[in-house]
Amino acid sequence: MSLLSARGLSKTYGATPALVGAEFSIDAGEVVAVMGPSGSGKSTLLHVVAGIVPPDAGTVMYDGRELSAMSDVERSALRRSEFGFVFQFGQLVPELSCRENVALPLRLDGVSRRSAEARADELLASLEVSGVAGQRPGTVSGGEGQRVAVARALATDPRVLFADEPTGALDSLNGERVMDLLTGAARERGTAVVLVTHEARVAAYSDREIVVRDGRTLGVERVSS
Ligand code: ADP
Ligand code: ADP
Repeated sequence: MSLLSARGLSKTYGATPALVGAEFSIDAGEVVAVMGPSGSGKSTLLHVVAGIVPPDAGTVMYDGRELSAMSDVERSALRRSEFGFVFQFGQLVPELSCRENVALPLRLDGVSRRSAEARADELLASLEVSGVAGQRPGTVSGGEGQRVAVARALATDPRVLFADEPTGALDSLNGERVMDLLTGAARERGTAVVLVTHEARVAAYSDREIVVRDGRTLGVERVSS
């Protein structure tokens, strides 16, 4: 059975159908690219399978449990302990240093400042952004900020990492670094990585692609490689 899967997902915003009977699945250690044009429903699919947005119809199963059967408190605890998120904008806390940002999810889990910041420094080093550890996010470049956000998402060693256009604001070298880190987490730690992208170059890093068109998941295709 898949680690995370969804069947028959529908979601309508006002008169706009964002998802129409969409399907989804991902296994531990797998990198799945969710592809499709702007407005096709990719972000909505990610938000629904991550338990952030409730579907109008359909079911989402995580590790044998149905998300809709959980209370809000259980779902947010699950998101905090098992899921990691990398979104394109507004993800780092501007008042904290980059190190403190990466350490934050661990601090919220009750990890001591000393251990959390040691882990943060390790992650920042693996992304080659040790140099910005003491700086606030507002003072670093877009590429550095994005790598700090990836480090923060990996800090709690999530079982599923959701990344929405993680390389959207990056030049290709930074994009490659971010993608290498995400796929490395899948290989080395068995993290399931859900990658929302409209770029074939980014999707090429995935094991499998799910194509979204007008809210429908059209093809679930194995990438031949
Ligand atoms: P994508 O990520 O592929 O660009 P989205 O999932 O963001 O697509 O959007 C799918 C459709 O649903 C679009 O028409 C979008 O405008 C609409 N939509 C998404 N989120 C909302 C929302 N919170 N309120 C109203 N409409 C929304
Ligand atoms: P992305 O596709 O890069 O994730 P979007 O601009 O589609 O970002 O959406 C950003 C946020 O706004 C999401 O939370 C989405 O649900 C919401 N959203 C998208 N389209 C609409 C819309 N037409 N009306 C209201 N909220 C929307």
